[in-house]
Amino acid sequence: MSMKLFIHASLEQERRVERGAMAVTAGVDIGSTASKAVVLIDGKTAGQIIGPSSTNPKRTAREIYNSALDHAGVSAADVAYVVGTGYGRTQVEFADKNVSEITCHGRGAHFLCPTARTVIDIGGQDTKAVCIDSEGNLLDFVMNDKCAAGTGRFLEAMARSMELPVEEMGQHYFTGGDPCTITSMCSVFAESEVINLINDGVELPRIVKGLLLSLAVRVSSLARRLGIIEDVVMTGGVAKNKGVYDAIEKKLKIKMKSFGDTDPQLVGALGAALVAADFAGAGTVSG
Ligand code: ADP
Repeated sequence: MSMKLFIHASLEQERRVERGAMAVTAGVDIGSTASKAVVLIDGKTAGQIIGPSSTNPKRTAREIYNSALDHAGVSAADVAYVVGTGYGRTQVEFADKNVSEITCHGRGAHFLCPTARTVIDIGGQDTKAVCIDSEGNLLDFVMNDKCAAGTGRFLEAMARSMELPVEEMGQHYFTGGDPCTITSMCSVFAESEVINLINDGVELPRIVKGLLLSLAVRVSSLARRLGIIEDVVMTGGVAKNKGVYDAIEKKLKIKMKSFGDTDPQLVGALGAALVAADFAGAGTVSG
């Protein structure tokens, strides 16, 4: 299966790298749904790629890594250290070390937002709340990986029922009016509820708003189990859904910090590349 890669256009500028003087490290994050790679040159992001995960994670890891290297304008021989992370981190055969995604999300989030103390990571298959210290080190975490509710997979299933691209859910949330109440926490039953609502003629935006608020209830209660320490940030692909972002802020009654232009789905791979820089002896790269 050929891999569709998404290259960030803002980084497509020509790069003139003075070989020999540069410190190049990489992070490769093989997630349940998406695979990501970030290449750092002297502590700055030079290449970054997101593509789908596959049934051949070893090959995906190589492809995503090579694409990120191309994007950065360097070759594998230039790279001092590679850290593999994510669900499939043991499949990153060329990594010098594997590090848990919990550590990497904390490290990446701290780099982008040094005041962050709580990181909420919503991925394709699990959701985590992570507490970090003022240096970005992991203090504690809680995780939901037993049930699809509260994860990206829940939203994907609901989007499919509504024949709506998952990327468009966020915009419907903000035009949603009165949200429908989705009572089922189980995604299978929630899907039946959604189908019944569609058949009753309820407008999609109201259903979407209800779904995102129900996901936010799940995620917020997970985060409260950990204990919320501000500033709070969100990582993972679902953080790109602005509706989820708003719904969680409402449920937690806080304002979260944003990463500006940085794609929140890349934070784990970025953290891995930063950890790689530490291992490479390039010193701690600060934000
Ligand atoms: P994992 O590491 O578990 O593979 P990711 O952090 O890469 O997870 O996030 C994958 C999830 O993000 C998927 O459920 C996908 O539907 C969701 N996602 C990706 N892009 C977007 C987007 N633009 N809007 C909303 N959801 C998105």
